[in-house]
Parts: sequence; C-alpha cells; structure tokens
Amino acid sequence: MTRLSLLSLVASATASLSLPATAQTTPPQDAPPRLVVALLVDQLRYDYLERFHNHFSPGGFRTFTERGAFLTFAQYDYAPTVTGPGHASFLSGATPATHGIVGNDWFDKKSGKSINCVSDPDVSGVGVKSASSGKRSPKNFIGSTLSDEMRLRFRSKVVGISLKDRGAILPAGRNADGAYWLDSSNGHFVTSTWYRNALPDWLTRFNNRQLPASYVGQVWKRLLPESAYPWSDTSVGEGKLAGEKTSTFDHVIKPSPTEGLETIVPTPFGNTLLRELAEAAIDGEQLGRPGTTDFLSISFSSTDACGHIFGPYSQEMQDIILRLDLELERLFKFLDQRIGLNNVTMVLTADHGVAPVPEFAVANGFQGGRADLADLKPTAPAVPAKDSTSPSTSTTTASAPPSTSASTPEKKEPSKSEEGEKPVTAPPSGLMADLLKALSQRFQTPRILLSPKFYDGHLFYNHRELAAQRISLEDVNLFIREWALSTGRFQSIFTRNQLLDGRAPGALGERILNGYNAERGGDIVLVLKPFILPGGGRSGTTHGAPYSYDTHIPVAFHGRAFKPGRYADPFNITDIAPTLSAALRMNEPSGNIGKPFVKALK
Ligand SMILES: [Zn+2]
Repeated sequence: MTRLSLLSLVASATASLSLPATAQTTPPQDAPPRLVVALLVDQLRYDYLERFHNHFSPGGFRTFTERGAFLTFAQYDYAPTVTGPGHASFLSGATPATHGIVGNDWFDKKSGKSINCVSDPDVSGVGVKSASSGKRSPKNFIGSTLSDEMRLRFRSKVVGISLKDRGAILPAGRNADGAYWLDSSNGHFVTSTWYRNALPDWLTRFNNRQLPASYVGQVWKRLLPESAYPWSDTSVGEGKLAGEKTSTFDHVIKPSPTEGLETIVPTPFGNTLLRELAEAAIDGEQLGRPGTTDFLSISFSSTDACGHIFGPYSQEMQDIILRLDLELERLFKFLDQRIGLNNVTMVLTADHGVAPVPEFAVANGFQGGRADLADLKPTAPAVPAKDSTSPSTSTTTASAPPSTSASTPEKKEPSKSEEGEKPVTAPPSGLMADLLKALSQRFQTPRILLSPKFYDGHLFYNHRELAAQRISLEDVNLFIREWALSTGRFQSIFTRNQLLDGRAPGALGERILNGYNAERGGDIVLVLKPFILPGGGRSGTTHGAPYSYDTHIPVAFHGRAFKPGRYADPFNITDIAPTLSAALRMNEPSGNIGKPFVKALK
C-alpha cells in the first residue's frame, strides 16, 4: 500500500468516526438516512414507466428506474385494488385481511351504514370550510405502519400529504405528527383534531398563497408535439373534464359551481400543487435535520382522477405522467439541496393500476363491458388499425345500449362511484335490480340483503330475516352463486364460510382471501370477469379487480442501502415494508406478511 493511499484510508476512517453526516459528506454505509420519503402515485400502472421512459427527464422517474432498485413485476396480492386498501398496505406489509381497510368505503354491520375508510365521528376538521367535513383519522386502520415503528425506533417526525384524505392519512400511520389533505371547497390543505387543534404556521402561510385558485383559467396543453403520443386523442369511451364539451387537448381549467376547486384535481396542476406542498412541509417541519430520521409520505392523486376520465391509453394520461416526471425532478433537486439525496431513502409505488376503458378494450378485440349494461358490441376492427400512430382512431364507436333499468340516472363520473363518498340515494339498477327481483321471487321476501349495493363485490345478508323466515344460509349462497354465473358477468364467487375456512383455490382465490377481513367482510363475494367494469357509467374507467391491469404496479427503492438494478423477481406490495425495515435496521410493522427483498439490499 502506498503512503498516499494509507493516508487517505486513515483520513476517511477518521472522518466517518468523528464527523456528523451532512449534505456535503458521504455518511457511513450503516448510518440511518435523515429522511425517508414514501412516494405513491395514485393509479400509476407499471407499464407507464416503460412506455413513457424515452420521454422522461434525467432526474425524475429515472432516479428510480435507472439509479434505484426497480421491481418490474410487483403485484397487489389482494383485491379490491382500490385507494384506501392500497394506501393502507403500502407501508404496513399487511393486506385488508389484517389491516382492516377493506375498501374506500364499506358496509358497517354494526351501524347498518356505509362508512368511509378514514371516517371518524369523534374528531373534527381543522382548517375546513364546513364544520361537518374533515372528520377523518386513521382510527379504522388496524395495527402499525412503517412510520409508526420508525417513531419507536428513531423518534421520527412523521408527516403525510395528499390531495385525498385517505392518501395523506393511511401511509402516515396511526401516530403521525400531521396528515394534510385538500379541502376543495376553499382550496386549503386541512387536517383533523386526531393530529392537532390548529394548522401549523407554515401551512397557514402556504394556504394563503391560494395556489389552487391561481390554476383556474390556465390551459393544459400537451408537453410534447402530438406525434410523440402513440394513441389517438379521440379514443372511444373517454370522458370529459368538468365544464368541457370535448375530451381533447387543449384543456382549460374551469371553476365548478358545485365542487369548488375540485376541477384542478384531474389535471397536472394538482401534482404541481402537491409538490409545492411537499417542499413547504420539508422546510416548515424541518424534516431531515442532521441526527434525525424523519418520515414524509407524498401521495399524488391527480393521476387517478385523470385516469378515471381518460383511461390508460389516452394522451392525457401520458401527458400527466410526463409532467409529473418533471415535478419529481424538481422535488429531488430540492431534497438534494436541503438534505442531500445521499441522506434520503425513497420508495415509489402505486395503490393500484387501472383497466382499459371498456369501449377501447372492445375496439381492440377484448370482451370489455360495463356490468350494468348489455354487452358492448365491437363495431371497430378487432385489431389496431395499420396506421400505428393512432391505433384507436377508427371513427366507429361502441354503441352504449340502454341500461337494464330505465330509471338509472347516468353516473356522471366513474371516479365518484369508486371513491364511494356519496350515500346511495338512487334506486337499485342494472344487476342489483335484477338480483333483488330474483331473490324476492325465490325466497318470497324483499329483505334478504341489508344493503342494495355491491361493496367491492361484497353482499351483506339480513340474518334476522333469514332466521325469521327459516331460510337457510346455504340456500341463499347457492342461489346467488347460480344467479351470478347466469348473468355472464362474473368470473367466480366465494362465500364467507369458504373464505373463513381458507378454501379459496388458485392465485385468484388467494387474492380474494387476502382482501377478506373476517370482521368487516360480506356474506358472499362476487368477482367480475376481466375487462368488465362495475356499474353502468357510459365513459371512463376504473379499478378494483384482481387482474393484472389493476394489480401490477411499479415498486422502486432509492438510497444508499439499495443495490441499483432491474429485478423481475416475484414481489408483492406487502414486501415493501419489510424491505424498508431491513434497510433501516428496525422492526417491521405488526401485521406484516411480506418478506424483505434481500437481493436489492447492500
Ligand atoms: Zn387510488
């Protein structure tokens, strides 16, 4: 060994022993990071990171896909693949079977009412416009999350942010210092008394900037020339932004007379807003100071709202992802400047994917459909047109036949039904109306079900009525199963007893089992066929199924504990929390069923 190299070895050893880690120096390999940033992009399909890769900036998504450990075959190992459960599983290593967040909303057997996954009547909104809103907390989440365990291990400061309440609340765990979400009625970020009694000063200053209102009237144009977008801007089945007459670029952000600033949510401006809030939170909360290991979760919601309206093969979806890439690049530069990216551990994933718009699926040769409507007839060629620059530009459209129930009010927006915020006021329609009629005829009572609604495929029986009328549970189960199969809409049916006994065969059965919570689950679970969406909406798309378009999501880690690379290994969403726990040298969350992905750990 030369004298020079010996000297430098001594110097570096001394440095690592005596100097605190700062943004300017390389910390020791085993020192915990100063900040864990948990990024979730709502409805980010895995394939977006591959399809749009060539147009990404050097410092956005590529930070993960080229310089991080990128899991290219990561899956949700349960259904329903919707927002609440996805955010609850993200950092708990648990599935709905254990963490209890079984849907965005579910039928509460005790109260006989539908409840939202983050509703909490015992708390009050803080900073909200209307006193009745903001009653939100992680009370319904069962167990601990990574951030809860980080508080025990590192005394971490924990903050979660999102446009959606559940997107902010669930990843931040039960004991966060703060979770902040958008109140679209006034454009302010708010919280609840679960966390604190007043907004922090930094957030009041942020709200006073009135950023949401400043986006109204702005124009959303394509980032790139139209030739860079392989699919048509006039694809069949696309919906429209509020207040617009067409579903094509350019889009103008309009105020909504009924929903306030909600209209910015399905546009890239919602992601800009959240990136700005993330930076304000890092500075305001002084996250990641030397000697600390703090936690910040950021859930970008706009991609989900956009995807529901336009679908995964739309120019809008491509554009909002390309623009989010630029927001991520800005955020990572900010983190590098403030804390040093080398002192930050990051994870990126999604809460679910999304199905193709059914009319688009039909036009491309699949058996797509909307459950409450008669089958969509393919009127376009079954294969993409030879003009590959716009495979869906066929001028034919799949005709949308009338609903099976004439009294059905057309659903304005699929995202609304998926989000489950509104009480069921419309009379049962379509499949449900058909089922209620069949049940009444067979069992001579109209009261077999407690609620005339499919809760992510779950139905709840009126057991008192069954006992009073001496109707056997098994008879109802068998009747509903055969009715469901006779409709041509359903793939499989699982009864409560089957699921409680663990009798759900195959990969599909396992996903339903992992999504079934004994306390909160229904009496029977009906699973639609692939490419068939629930409800009778006439445009747009949704998610929630156990199929790959909904379950396959990207997962990527970045930080000095990880070996960069592409890994096509089997990986479940429940493997994120134990992998991060191993990287951080701490206990995994209580309900964890996943395994650390040791191949990517240094
Ligand atoms: Zn979602």
